[in-house]
Amino acid sequence: MCDEGYERILRRRLKEARRVCRRRIKHLHQYTFSLTLRQGAGELSSYDNHPADLGTETYERSRDVGLLAAAARQLREIDAALDRMRNGEYGRCQACGGSISSARLMAKPTARTCVRCMQQR
Ligand SMILES: [Zn+2]
Repeated sequence: MCDEGYERILRRRLKEARRVCRRRIKHLHQYTFSLTLRQGAGELSSYDNHPADLGTETYERSRDVGLLAAAARQLREIDAALDRMRNGEYGRCQACGGSISSARLMAKPTARTCVRCMQQR
């Protein structure tokens, strides 16, 4: 269903994206973990009443947690796409069963649905 050549290109791109993603998650983990150690778990509950400097750290921390969640989600999408490549499901729309255009897969290698189904959601 997928042209062999371009699926190979996409697989390489997905694997590269996974490497970048994993590095990012590791980095964010280390950073948020060190913040947690510095602040201590007990302080987390009374956060909102703290002075501005801690407020900033709270903001940065929640932003990092958001980035971490986004990176983890992206990693799951990448792994799922690589799984679909292995079992021959890659490039098939999971909503209508039709094929996903190569242009869409090039733009978004983790796409699970064709453009039409995506727009209907
Ligand atoms: Zn579809």
